[in-house]
Amino acid sequence: MFFKSSKINEFRLWGLLLTLFGMGLMIMGTAGILLWGQAGKIVAAIFMVFGMISMLVSVGIYFWAGMLSTTATMLQCPECAKPTKMLGKTDRCMFCKTILTLDPDKATEQVPVMNDSSAIDRKLTN
Ligand SMILES: [Zn+2]
Repeated sequence: MFFKSSKINEFRLWGLLLTLFGMGLMIMGTAGILLWGQAGKIVAAIFMVFGMISMLVSVGIYFWAGMLSTTATMLQCPECAKPTKMLGKTDRCMFCKTILTLDPDKATEQVPVMNDSSAIDRKLTN
């Protein structure tokens, strides 16, 4: 992870950065027309294409983040008591950035999980 935030928030951040990057490219391409006239139109077209690709990728990331968040585990953060979502076995709280884990070996405290029944089953059988 590049930033100290939860995985879902990080996906959203990358989506936002790519959208801004795509828009920036398209604006720079349009500026090419103003600077170089007819020749600038080719530059503008190239920048438009790259800008569109960047925006499409960001839409893909947003969609992916949305899909992932439906499979994420809902739980109440033991630190700030807010309901948060986590991806995989270890993730950070969306609000207070505390590192949370479902792995009993890495956990320092046991907290019941709301909707992940398999995790509860595992705790019961152990
Ligand atoms: Zn928290």
